[in-house]
Amino acid sequence: MSRGSGRPPATTTTVTRGANSGTRVTERAVATSTSRRTPNRWQVGRLVERRVETPTAQTLVLEVPDWPGHLPGQHVDLRLTAPDGYQAARSYSIAGPVVDGPGGPRIEVTVQRVHDGEVSPYLIDVFGAGEPVEVRGPLGGWFIWRPEETAPVQLVAGGSGVVPLMAMIRARRAVGSKALFRLIYSVRTPADVIYADELRRRGRDDFGLDIAYVYTREAPEGWRGEPHRIGLADVNTNGWPPDLEPLTYVCGPTAFVETVADLLVGLGHPSRRVKTERFGPTG
Ligand SMILES: Cc1cc2nc3c(=O)[nH]c(=O)nc-3n(C[C@H](O)[C@H](O)[C@H](O)COP(=O)(O)OP(=O)(O)OC[C@H]3O[C@@H](n4cnc5c(N)ncnc54)[C@H](O)[C@@H]3O)c2cc1C
Repeated sequence: MSRGSGRPPATTTTVTRGANSGTRVTERAVATSTSRRTPNRWQVGRLVERRVETPTAQTLVLEVPDWPGHLPGQHVDLRLTAPDGYQAARSYSIAGPVVDGPGGPRIEVTVQRVHDGEVSPYLIDVFGAGEPVEVRGPLGGWFIWRPEETAPVQLVAGGSGVVPLMAMIRARRAVGSKALFRLIYSVRTPADVIYADELRRRGRDDFGLDIAYVYTREAPEGWRGEPHRIGLADVNTNGWPPDLEPLTYVCGPTAFVETVADLLVGLGHPSRRVKTERFGPTG
């Protein structure tokens, strides 16, 4: 992706690891309805902050002046335009509630670098503070958790598939929901855990939230078992039993999502309560 047409920076960008949004930003309550304005309209957003989450993933905070609000699980399309007019657009899940910044509403996305990718390396390495990006959204009306829901929730993430699931965990906290949540998060190594500090904190402080990790390549010291790909025992032990009628959200690479969805349905979870979001064509 060539560098998009830039305008002078409007604000400065700060880089921190795993911290939450800037101190000048006040968290606004989670929107409980989607926009009456059309989400299919492209509008110009601007990068105002960048946070390093892992060696290969960063959170980008975008100021989007006419943002209509969103529900946890929804995503945006980002479109970049090179000086020669070439355009590339990709979808990114919204990572948390909208926040009020000094220049207007802000949303966050977390981008994982895809080796040989066109857009994700650009967003991580090149896209600069104050630069514009076209934003369309919020998009997606199926893979959403409504904060008024009271059913137990199980979240199963593979890699960057944790992003929309984190939006649900953050929304649960923001509205004071008592719904019981369980997250099963599959990652290659401990260094690949996105939102590691916040997940550690929330696992300790957010009553009713349980978090279990599955490591596929390298496990931390003291972790029970050998690194492995997610399997029946992981889902059975760390998820909810079907008779509790949980709502399930599975997100990650296509092969991961299909494996987990099959396991869940095989365990007796009705497929209509297993919602899936596929991020890419490969595992
Ligand atoms: C609804 C939705 C939400 C998404 N949310 C996020 C998000 O929150 N964070 C995030 O990082 N990504 C997310 N994605 C994936 C994102 O849209 C892009 O596909 C990803 O950033 C790769 O784009 P690229 O231009 O870098 O790679 P491309 O140039 O499009 O692809 C390069 C190569 O990588 C393969 N590839 C493409 N995408 C992936 C992938 N996700 N995993 C593995 N291989 C891939 C392609 O087949 C190709 O071989 C989401 C996708 C969807 C559909």
